[in-house]
Amino acid sequence: MWTYDDVTDATRDVLRLSRAMTYKAACADLPLGGGKGVIALPAGPDRVRLTGRRRRDALLDFGDAVEALGGRYLTAEDVGMASRDMPVIAERTAHVTGLARARGGSGDPSPFTAIGVEAAIRTCCERLFGTSSLRDRTIAVVGLGHVGSRVATLCARAGAQLVVSDINPSRRTLADRLGARWTTPGRALTAKVDVLSPCALGAVFDDDVVPRLRCRAIAGAANNQLTEERVAKLLAARGILWAPDFVVNAGGIVNIAVELRPEGYDPATARRDCKAIGSTLAEIFAAADAEHTTPLAAANALAEQRLTAQR
Ligand code: NAD
Repeated sequence: MWTYDDVTDATRDVLRLSRAMTYKAACADLPLGGGKGVIALPAGPDRVRLTGRRRRDALLDFGDAVEALGGRYLTAEDVGMASRDMPVIAERTAHVTGLARARGGSGDPSPFTAIGVEAAIRTCCERLFGTSSLRDRTIAVVGLGHVGSRVATLCARAGAQLVVSDINPSRRTLADRLGARWTTPGRALTAKVDVLSPCALGAVFDDDVVPRLRCRAIAGAANNQLTEERVAKLLAARGILWAPDFVVNAGGIVNIAVELRPEGYDPATARRDCKAIGSTLAEIFAAADAEHTTPLAAANALAEQRLTAQR
């Protein structure tokens, strides 16, 4: 659920997001396709915050739209939605994933997404510094929401020195608890660190930001981090190792794939499968080296190869 200038803007975004979901599922080698739904709210002066009865009505309409697809599309929680929204959608359709564990679902996907991000950060460190240990590595986490707060916690537990930030000042409490340095989002983004982990919204890296980066690698949860695919080449030219976002943040969908298995959901299996994101990323980095190309091109090639094999 997000605000958009108009329907064209929302359509463009949903197509971009659904393509990323397709490539994410393929790189994670899941028996799933890809799709995305958006509930578009008007931006500007007519901006509405959907609450109460109006929110419920919108969620029920969305549930009807999902049901009309007869199971070809499964919906899940994402930006602008809360766990409590999912049971409302489930009043109209059974094709809802990530419901509470008590209702037979796999619950909030964020902890699993964070496990995958930590695995990706370790793979970047292994490649750059010859060890996957995070002890005394410097890591900047931008966005301390559902995923970022957990990424920061996992990295702090592993002994990393953290710089963290969020536009929401209440998140500073977590920074204090972790012994992390709190700064502005702009400063965190351009901090001199080993790894930058963007965990807020997408479209962070463009022609203006890339020249100012001072990190050695980037591995974060945010979707669609590059404003355009060509930005991957700018990052490579600056010697910054960019771990493709749709590979790094696949933990949520990996967790959902475990929920869909005939034997039912098992969190230990989900954790193991999310950690495997680290090995997938290592293969992508190796393929990029072999082909003299960017990790993005190598990840796209892996996804396309798997999609072609399934046709
Ligand atoms: P969230 O809404 O819980 O957290 C986002 C956080 O970023 C919030 O605390 C917000 O205040 C902060 N933020 C927003 N703009 C910012 C800015 N400019 N600078 C600094 N902080 C800013 O969302 P989330 O579930 O943690 O997801 C984070 C990102 O990861 C999103 O891009 C999402 O699409 C992606 N993602 C999430 C999951 C998941 O399992 N939740 C899975 C895959 C991808």
